[in-house]
Amino acid sequence: MTDTAPCPVCGKPAQAATRPFCSQHCADIDLGRWFTGQYRIPGPLVDEENIQKNEGNDER
Ligand SMILES: [Zn+2]
Repeated sequence: MTDTAPCPVCGKPAQAATRPFCSQHCADIDLGRWFTGQYRIPGPLVDEENIQKNEGNDER
C-alpha cells in the first residue's frame, strides 16, 4: 500500500516513524498549535471583535 498522506504541517511526505508528520519537528509544531488553540477557545473571543469595532466606530 502506498498510503502516504502528506505532512499536515509542511506538506512533505510523512515518515512512518513520525506519522502523520514528516518529522518530529512538525509533530511538535502541530502539538503546539493544538495547545495554543485550546488556550484560545476559553478566552473571550468577543474582545477581539469589540476592539476592531471600537476602532472602526472611532469617529474622526
Ligand atoms: Zn512536516
